[in-house]
Amino acid sequence: MKVESKVLGILGGGQLGRMSAMAAARLGITTHIYCPEEACPASLVTPYFTCAEYTDKEALTKFANSVDVISYEFENIPVETIEFLTSIKPVYPDSKLLEVSQNRLKEKDFLNSIGVLTAPWAPARSVEDIATTFGKWGLNEAIIKTTRFGYDGKGQIFHRDGDDISSSWASLNTDEAVIEGVIDFDYEVSIIIARDLQGQMAVYPPVMNEHKNHILDKTHYPSPLPESLAIEAAEMARKIADAVDLVGVLALELFVTKDGKLLANEIAPRTHNSGHWTIDACAVSQFENHVRCVTGLPVGAPEPIIAAEMHNLIGDDIQKLDDYLKTPRAHIHLYGKTEAREGRKMGHVTILKK
Ligand code: AMP
Repeated sequence: MKVESKVLGILGGGQLGRMSAMAAARLGITTHIYCPEEACPASLVTPYFTCAEYTDKEALTKFANSVDVISYEFENIPVETIEFLTSIKPVYPDSKLLEVSQNRLKEKDFLNSIGVLTAPWAPARSVEDIATTFGKWGLNEAIIKTTRFGYDGKGQIFHRDGDDISSSWASLNTDEAVIEGVIDFDYEVSIIIARDLQGQMAVYPPVMNEHKNHILDKTHYPSPLPESLAIEAAEMARKIADAVDLVGVLALELFVTKDGKLLANEIAPRTHNSGHWTIDACAVSQFENHVRCVTGLPVGAPEPIIAAEMHNLIGDDIQKLDDYLKTPRAHIHLYGKTEAREGRKMGHVTILKK
């Protein structure tokens, strides 16, 4: 009897691609990573690798013809690349979701249109727009974010009362931004959902996230979120997944306000740093579920087996490795990066609780 072995193409070669490739290998699925950088984390764990630009149609065509199905591991892949590849092979999640998550204005518009609440927001294309919004809101304080290419706190500024609006706007170096009301949140949570080709969904429980310098530092499962809000968060994730006809994994980041409301901050059309704990603490991790969903396998049960805490190793945190190596119940994951730079995610550690 012959056993079919699928080839999954992944655009992007970072740690998310690496951990997806490792999950795929466990399922007997081969990966082909496509990335413009030669020595990327995923290239070290995949049998097939293409190093080319996302605009190189010849390389993209060759890549698409060598795989059964395509996915991507980060959201800044040009939408045109996804549309081009879709004409050759199925690509999941599709370009609709990618387009929404690439632009903060579209994202907030979409979330509000399906009844998911966000911080108050307004578009800004000039200094005058910001002044007009402040006038309307009766406030002089906001977080102003570029609409595109923002991550880990990049492309955003906290404009405080008394700051010069022109300087804040100039510092963003953009022609389009979103002004957001500052949420005095109690804490931040995120929730990850996987949806397969049959529309079956698996929702991981919400986790609490702690950030350092705008970058995720620690994730805690379980989160302190009351049961009623955990149910609400799962409902929000389901609503989003259905609305975009998700195939694969999606993450939703939420603020928990001091008066007990959930406000969506952003969505990621991919596996997420706050879901890394699922590798060691759940039977089916976010990476396995992503691979399952995009390759046509049924989504797996997301229930955790044990409480866990995930610590990111960012930049010099890698020096703590010796201590983590001696820590009982610590599962160490390094991404194969040979240079530790400030803000660079070098790996993570999941500590399983008793
Ligand atoms: P983002 O790039 O939108 O994920 O924002 C990075 C981090 O900045 C979030 O995880 C929050 O800690 C903080 N932040 C972003 N937007 C707001 C907001 N409207 N109010 C308060 N804090 C925010």
